Amino acid sequence: MSAWLPIATIAQKVQAGELKASELVEQALQAIASKAQFQAIIVSLDDAAHERAKDIDARIARGENVGRLAGVPFIAKDNFLVFGAETTAASNILKGFTAPYQSTVINKLEAEGAICVAKANLDAFAHGSSTENSDFFTTKNPHDETRVPGGSSGGSAAAVVLELTPFALGSDTGGSIRLPASFCGAVGYKPTYGLVSRSGVVAMASSTDTIGPLARTVDDAALVLDVIAGKDALDSTTIDRDAVSYTDLLGDVKGKKIGVIKEYMGEGLDQGVKACIEAAIEKLKAAGAEITEVSLPSLSAALAVYYIICPAEVSSNLARYDGQRFGFTSSDAESLDESYSKSRAVGFGKEAKRRIMIGTYVLSSGYYDAYYKKAQTVRTKIINEFEAIFAKVDFLLGPVAPMTAFKIGENVDDPLQMYLTDIMTVAVNMVGIPAVSIPAGVSDGLPVGLQLMAAQKADRALLGLAKASEELLV
Ligand code: GLN
Repeated sequence: MSAWLPIATIAQKVQAGELKASELVEQALQAIASKAQFQAIIVSLDDAAHERAKDIDARIARGENVGRLAGVPFIAKDNFLVFGAETTAASNILKGFTAPYQSTVINKLEAEGAICVAKANLDAFAHGSSTENSDFFTTKNPHDETRVPGGSSGGSAAAVVLELTPFALGSDTGGSIRLPASFCGAVGYKPTYGLVSRSGVVAMASSTDTIGPLARTVDDAALVLDVIAGKDALDSTTIDRDAVSYTDLLGDVKGKKIGVIKEYMGEGLDQGVKACIEAAIEKLKAAGAEITEVSLPSLSAALAVYYIICPAEVSSNLARYDGQRFGFTSSDAESLDESYSKSRAVGFGKEAKRRIMIGTYVLSSGYYDAYYKKAQTVRTKIINEFEAIFAKVDFLLGPVAPMTAFKIGENVDDPLQMYLTDIMTVAVNMVGIPAVSIPAGVSDGLPVGLQLMAAQKADRALLGLAKASEELLV
């Protein structure tokens, strides 16, 4: 039996006085403590969460309407600014940093009665695919403690599958919501770029950073999206949300035109993963979907393009961590310059340094044209290919990753091998379209995610398809 009711039901029961927010917070905090060996959590917000729960229970006792997420506990990836604990992004350089303001999404969730109970582990600054780049510790896969949960939102995905809370927040710059969702067996939703405000989330690569939910069902993810989506004056890249709700999904597979991405189904794809995806395709076909194979030839360049543009933006975004304003400062510097360099040398981990160096290199005069500019040109080509395909099909389908969860330690000494994990997720970010990972079975006891994608702003349609598919696949 699952530990949590559907999110909408929890909120209704809390509002009706049948469940107490304080009991739900206690349940979440106890689950966090009893499953501590998975190391999904960096810090729990016991006092702040209890206080909020008490307030919510009191407001309900007074007859107030608390909101659509009344009393629902959740966990935020530790790159979200949240009051009540440090925000570290799992990096040593942010140790000791407390948020002067909260992220817009946290404010929106709280305004509907949700309660943040903990901060989840991640690859430091969200750079990675396994949480092994966390400066603190590696989260373990809920299905096999010797394996990674995926990354970078690995703590959030593990938390949801371990049922610490009904949902968690993640960020997806190149796959970081979908990959851990696939590796852990959760639903992970990456919205259209700009649909959810990035304000108050530690920036990684600003042109592809997106915020979204990890949950156990598409309905739960859709409800969270409905609360957090929309234009925000604090993030100039945000767009208007759909006028209609993202909930009440009336998805139907019948008659939907779905393109299977040929480039994702070929060489290098693990046979067990392939079998799950093919079985899913058959079920969708049997339910009336019109499935064809489609080709996006420039996809072969997507990973290379991403690993130029992403580090370029990372090097710029990480420049602000100079040891003076945020978190950690080296104590043995004799001048300001020395303080900058020592704080950065000690505070940043290996992967952040690697990305700063690559990013600075591809942006430097002399190499800018050869790398950064060329990557942007190819990015435009990829965008054009996706646009042309979406004139022919409603949705695209493929795996999330070529493999299931790998062993802890297996790829840590080989960054290129690690980057290959992202080969089927990064294009979505380059193009800014929405995509979702839903559980599509298991291979050797490990979860396999099915990735569904839609055109920009077709989030509602995508969630509808995801819901209909989820029903067919489970
Ligand atoms: N794994 C990818 C990377 O390391 C994506 C990370 C992310 O989406 N935050 O860049």
